[in-house]
Amino acid sequence: MTNSVDWSTKSIIDKREQYYAASQRAFVPYQKPLIIKKGQMQYVWDENGNKLIDMLGMNLCISVGHCHPKVVEAVTAQVQELTHCTTMFYHPVPAHLAEELAATMPKGHEWVVHFTNSGTEAIDLAMMMARRATRNHDILALRYSYHGATYGAQSVTSVPGFRHNVSQVPNVSFVAEPNQYRGLYGAGTTPYLNAIDDTIASQTSGELAAMIIESVQGYGGIIQMPEGYLKGAAEKVRAAGGLLILDEVQSGFGKTGDAMWCFDHHGVVPDIMVIAKGLGNGIPIGAVVVKKEVADTMDGKLLFHTYGANPVSCSAARAVLQVIKEDDLINNVATVGTALHEGLKQLQSRYPIIGDVRGRGFMQAIELVKDRETKEPATDQTAFVFERTREHGLIVSKTGPHKNILRMVPPLCLQMEDVQPVLDALDRSFADLEKANLA
Ligand code: PMP
Repeated sequence: MTNSVDWSTKSIIDKREQYYAASQRAFVPYQKPLIIKKGQMQYVWDENGNKLIDMLGMNLCISVGHCHPKVVEAVTAQVQELTHCTTMFYHPVPAHLAEELAATMPKGHEWVVHFTNSGTEAIDLAMMMARRATRNHDILALRYSYHGATYGAQSVTSVPGFRHNVSQVPNVSFVAEPNQYRGLYGAGTTPYLNAIDDTIASQTSGELAAMIIESVQGYGGIIQMPEGYLKGAAEKVRAAGGLLILDEVQSGFGKTGDAMWCFDHHGVVPDIMVIAKGLGNGIPIGAVVVKKEVADTMDGKLLFHTYGANPVSCSAARAVLQVIKEDDLINNVATVGTALHEGLKQLQSRYPIIGDVRGRGFMQAIELVKDRETKEPATDQTAFVFERTREHGLIVSKTGPHKNILRMVPPLCLQMEDVQPVLDALDRSFADLEKANLA
C-alpha cells in the first residue's frame, strides 16, 4: 500500500505555503515554483511532463545522475535487508565506505572518517575537531563563503541572506576572498595571502584553531582559488597553530574535472575535509575525512548522529564512488566541461552584459554586469535571464552576493551532446533580454 499523492500544481503550492515553516518556505528561486516529478541521469521532468536539463544537479546532490541504475540497485538491495544500523552496533557497509574514502586521500597520512547526516553537521564537527585538536578557538573563513545553516556552520558562512539575526558562534573572522574578477584587491594571490596575516594580527588572538575554505566557492559565485593560494593559506594558518579545513561539499567528486578532490591539483593536503551532497547521489549523507591524529583528540567523549553511517546512505555512496571510477566520469567532466566553457566564452563575445565567464570542469559561472568597465552588477537582468533559462529547458542557479551570477554545476554524467542544447538555451535567454530592451 502506498499513500496517495496529489500532483495537481495548485494543491502542491498551496499545501507547501500552508504547512511549511517560514524558514523552510523562503528558498524559492523562480517566480513560478518549479515542481519536479521525475529524474533520469542529467534530466528532470516537471509535473506536466516538461523536460529540463538539470544544470544544478539538484543543488549538487546528484553527482552521477538522477536515479542512476547502479545507485538505485545498491540502495534497493540494502533497504530490503536492513534500513538502519545505529553506530552503537557494527555493520560492514559504512566501514567499507570509510576505507574507500580514506583511499581517495593523499598518501603519507592515516585518514579516518566520521559520517554525519548532512554537510552542515560535518562542518560543525570539523570546527569542533579543529578547536579540540589545537586547543585554540579562533577560526578564519572567507567572505562570501557558504558552509551551512546550523549555528556552527552559519557562523563561518558569509553569503548574504543565510546569516540570521541571532548570536553567532564566536571566534570567527572573515578574510577577503581571492575573487580574481571583483575581489577587494583585484587579481593576484599575494594580496589575499597578506590579508590572512592582517586578519590574524588584527582580529584574532594570534593562535588559530583553523581556517575553513571551500576549494571553489559555490554560492559565492564559482570563485576558484588562484594558484598558490591554498598552499600559502595552509602555511600561514599552520604557522599560527591552526589546521586547514577544506570544504569539498560542492567541489569534490571530480566536479572540477581534475581529480577526485579539487584540492588535489592545488598541491595542498588538508587536515580535515568535509563532504556531503554528491556523496549519496541524493540520499542524505555527510562526512568528515580527517587525519587520524586530529580525530583522535576527540576520543573519550561521545559524538553521536542517530543516522550517521546509515547503511542505506553508505550503500549509495559506495555505488557513487564505484560509478565515478567505472564510467570514467572525471575525464568526462574535463572534456565536456572544456567544451561548455568554450561555448560560454563565445556567448560572452556576443553579449556585452556577460562580464565574466569562469570555472573549471562542471563548476561554471557567467557573471552579468551593466558595464564591463565598472562591473556594476546586473541583478535585475540576471533575474530576467534566469527565468528565461527555465522556459528554454534549463535549470541553473542565480547566485553570488549581488545575485548577478548564473551558476552551472551539472551532474558528472552530462554528455557532449547536451552542450549545444545548453548553449542554445542560454543564447535564447540572452536574446530574450535584448528583445525586451533590458540588456
Ligand atoms: N558546504 C557547502 C560548500 C555547501 O554548498 C553546503 C550546502 N549547500 C554545505 C556545506 C552544507 O551542506 P548541507 O546542506 O548538506 O547541510
